[in-house]
Amino acid sequence: MSIETSIASIVEGETGQPYPYRRVELVEPDWTRFPGWKDVTREEWESAQWQRSHCVKNLRQLRELLGDLVDERFYADLERDQAERATMSMLIPPQMMNTMAPHEQPAGPGSLTEAFYADPIRHYMIPVFSDRRTDWPSHPYSSRDSLHEHDMWAAEGLTHRYPTKVLAELLPTCPQYCGHCTRMDLVGNSTPTVDKLKFLGKPVDRHAEMLDYLRTHPGVRDVVVSGGDVANMPWARLEEFLTKLLEIENIRDIRLATKALMGLPQHWLQDEVVEGMSRVAGTARARGVGLAIHTHVNHANSVTPLVAKAAQAMFDAGVRDVRNQGVILNGVNADPHAMLDLCFRLLDGAQILPYYFYMCDMIPNAEHWRISVADAQRLQHHIMGYLPGFATPRIVCDVPFVGKRWVHQISSYDEVKGISYWTKNYRTSIEAADPEALTRTYEYYDPIHTLPAEGQAWWARQGQETVHSV
Ligand code: SF4
Repeated sequence: MSIETSIASIVEGETGQPYPYRRVELVEPDWTRFPGWKDVTREEWESAQWQRSHCVKNLRQLRELLGDLVDERFYADLERDQAERATMSMLIPPQMMNTMAPHEQPAGPGSLTEAFYADPIRHYMIPVFSDRRTDWPSHPYSSRDSLHEHDMWAAEGLTHRYPTKVLAELLPTCPQYCGHCTRMDLVGNSTPTVDKLKFLGKPVDRHAEMLDYLRTHPGVRDVVVSGGDVANMPWARLEEFLTKLLEIENIRDIRLATKALMGLPQHWLQDEVVEGMSRVAGTARARGVGLAIHTHVNHANSVTPLVAKAAQAMFDAGVRDVRNQGVILNGVNADPHAMLDLCFRLLDGAQILPYYFYMCDMIPNAEHWRISVADAQRLQHHIMGYLPGFATPRIVCDVPFVGKRWVHQISSYDEVKGISYWTKNYRTSIEAADPEALTRTYEYYDPIHTLPAEGQAWWARQGQETVHSV
């Protein structure tokens, strides 16, 4: 269903509002419904070590887990995608796997096939070939490092893109790999279609260079400590980095990026991690530094009691805020009801602040997930007014060479060709000497299949010679 159709089909609920708000109790789906986990105890389930050692990493392990509950058709579809399209390798913690088809009770061979095909979390964590577009699987201007983060590295892995804030990529791995990952160029294992970039420096040297840069650049006040996902860094090493960061006088905000708060909440509930976070948060508070966690949840079904418990453990340890940055993805959450369900589930159930929804970036093979800027503007309109103002997420487009822009900040827009034009009000680190950096316009491209026939024909005439090969 197109976004316009889905918006048009919203019926007024019993409250007389297009979106009928109801508070929903969080539930942990029953993992024993999957044959491979029929004997798994609660103690095992709540162990971070058990979760990590039972991640689904390949087709064989998925078969061992689901058996014949899912048809061969699905497995073949997945195998083809992995060989021909996938930009990320497979890595799904049991916690995330268990939120797929959460309400289906298996009833014999093949009984979960359709539920798996339709499931929103499956849709972005286990992409299959038939999900992808065959007309324009990639936009002609898609690229591996679509935000040009590497071009703006001030030290290896330290992106200085905005005037007062930086992104520190401490490591290139995560406990879970998302099919649409923006950092597909760097993060995770290579796939048959993508040879991943490797950091050249040793972690200890890279981290020292990052800290040196921050000590010598007093204009930087805010560090997103990321990856990958910081949950994959041994706690002692992460704490050492954070302690040194907190000694730098100019650093006033630290944000820890971890999708694992949702994908592997068991990690954030370990004694070593909670106690360590409590030490770091205590130092941050004493120095007047804001310490927050930024997580990445895309669907309401991901918010379970264990996720709420992990968020609460972080609040109890002294973390000031836990905020969510979701990604808008067709087939997952690209309609107002799904977005509002997610925001309320986060806010009511786990006190996690809905903060941003990003548009999916222009990476290869992502066109089936992406939406147009016009649709993003419509979505923003439809989610306004339901949530508290401070918890109403802004939908942002990360425009190459510009940075995050609210979708209504567009400068001009050719809706036929699907080209939007954006301006900016600061220089990135690579434009210090560029006199036109603040006056030129920068382009962003809608998915071609969303354009009117005239626009699609225009792109077809341009030919596909500029299509990026992964
Ligand atoms: S958790 Fe973040 S960095 Fe890791 S694969 Fe997912 S989107 Fe990429």
